[in-house]
Amino acid sequence: MPPRAVSRLRVPYTRCYASAVSRPPLSALSSTARTQAENISAEWKGTSATGENTKNLIGGEFVESKASEWIDVVDPATQTLLTRVPETTSEEFEQAVDAASQAFKKWSRSSVLTRQRFVMELQHQLRQNGDAIASSIVLEQGKTFADAQGDLLRGLQVVETACGIPAALLGNSIEVSKDMDTSTRRLPLGVCASIAPFNFPAMIPLWSIPMAIATGNTLIVKPSERDPGAAMIIAELCQRAGLPAGVLNVVHGTVPTVNGICDHPSIKAISFVGGDRAGQHIYERGRKTGKRVQANLGAKNHAVIMPDANKNHALNSLIGAAFGAAGQRCMAISVAVLVGNAQQWLPDLVERAKKLKVNQGFEKGADFGPVISPASKQRITGLIASAEEQGGKVILDGRGLEVPGYPDGNWVGPTIIEATTDMRCYREEIFGPVLVVIPADTLDDALAIINSNKYGNGTAIFTQSGATARKFEVEVEVGQIGINVPIPVPLPMFSWSGNKASFLGDIPFYGRSGIDFYTQNKTTTALWKAEDAIGNKASVDMPTHH
Ligand code: NAD
Repeated sequence: MPPRAVSRLRVPYTRCYASAVSRPPLSALSSTARTQAENISAEWKGTSATGENTKNLIGGEFVESKASEWIDVVDPATQTLLTRVPETTSEEFEQAVDAASQAFKKWSRSSVLTRQRFVMELQHQLRQNGDAIASSIVLEQGKTFADAQGDLLRGLQVVETACGIPAALLGNSIEVSKDMDTSTRRLPLGVCASIAPFNFPAMIPLWSIPMAIATGNTLIVKPSERDPGAAMIIAELCQRAGLPAGVLNVVHGTVPTVNGICDHPSIKAISFVGGDRAGQHIYERGRKTGKRVQANLGAKNHAVIMPDANKNHALNSLIGAAFGAAGQRCMAISVAVLVGNAQQWLPDLVERAKKLKVNQGFEKGADFGPVISPASKQRITGLIASAEEQGGKVILDGRGLEVPGYPDGNWVGPTIIEATTDMRCYREEIFGPVLVVIPADTLDDALAIINSNKYGNGTAIFTQSGATARKFEVEVEVGQIGINVPIPVPLPMFSWSGNKASFLGDIPFYGRSGIDFYTQNKTTTALWKAEDAIGNKASVDMPTHH
């Protein structure tokens, strides 16, 4: 049977239930993709890439859900069904929370060296099996294989940093009065939950798994319903690394499962990464039941190109950061502010963007792949059209891109729009391979534009002047700044520091903050008077304990 035409899939859904749409057969995948899909199905217990169901992980067992609703996970390059994700039932969710609560009793009292050994072994397992995780990401998410390896690597770095957990958990102690000591120890919170987005299927679960578990918590992960495979493989690797049953559980689904997490009294903290709408909802609903919540939300990241910048480095950085991963990175540069004479570089920028190759993620030479879903493509192309309607100029148009061999892919080619800050394409997060270009006369004008934007995830400046960079660094109101660095994601010895509307909560992800988020302090004040010591001569009198 030939692959089915994409036109039949044009339904405005954010998720697609199994019965709603018929899908092309597995033979629609390229031979490389198919081999990888078959390997995944053969080698991993919790996931499939050949059409079987994704399982829940509850109390150490990968179990088939009894769900009545299932969500299709499809290859965004061909629409081929890879797996189905259950809308985990409330009983199954309850079992997962129960397993995590039971496991917490022992895991929270395990020695810190036991927990350190687990993360050390996990990093080994992840390195050994990195290609399987990356392949799952290419199939379900659509990234290129190299980019998918990077997705895992950024998560792996969090695991590696968590290997230093004994030092990170050291408490404080001081003699506050004669023979009286006060000491503080960092203790886990209990059962925690992590809710992940589609765009980094390995990295974002790995922002939480090592941090929550090494600090002695137990965890329930809810991967994105659009690409759960990487999280399922990681969960199995946690088992291989010796993690006791119930310490990590995985449930699936959409709003009902997420609301279950927000409302459950046994869940003490939620780590959320995703869009504004879900994030605001989860933050408010989770806080209502007294949970600690950290929520990383949407972004609009500006790069300022000064006329004194190293042109080649600046333009190449811009291209990579705007279009890499099809612009589906929360730290993607989605706005270029060209200052003064740097505006003359626009034609060169367009020429470089034109050279990018869009293709399925296993294909040689692919710079980026399809966007995640037909609905996402529709939203992106709609925002490009809105720029035209509002007087913007689409100077490179990625709509209508066709990729040979993949007629049904969610393709959007590199797009560059000259716009102004009142247009929808500037104000809304596009989350696609679209760069909005805004002119500015001076650095002060560029700073005013960025500081007026509601988001504060990331920004970058390209300049050869230390003074210009210094002024930018001091005055820009954005949490993560690159100076001649396009995607300034802090490595995990630091913490994530997006701000303004890009973050809700008080304690950010990973690094020192990650330890703080997943622990609470307990302070003990103890008096043991030295003068009460009975000395070292053995007493032979009858003990009376008076
Ligand atoms: P999303 O908000 O649609 O989904 C994220 C998670 O929330 C998923 O697990 C999903 O099942 C759940 N969810 C979705 N809608 C919900 C609702 N109405 N109620 C309850 N739960 C809901 O996000 P996405 O499309 O998967 O990811 C892209 C978004 O994530 C972008 O906005 C991007 O900027 C953001 N993101 C931010 C960061 C960051 O660190 N700031 C990192 C990655 C992605």
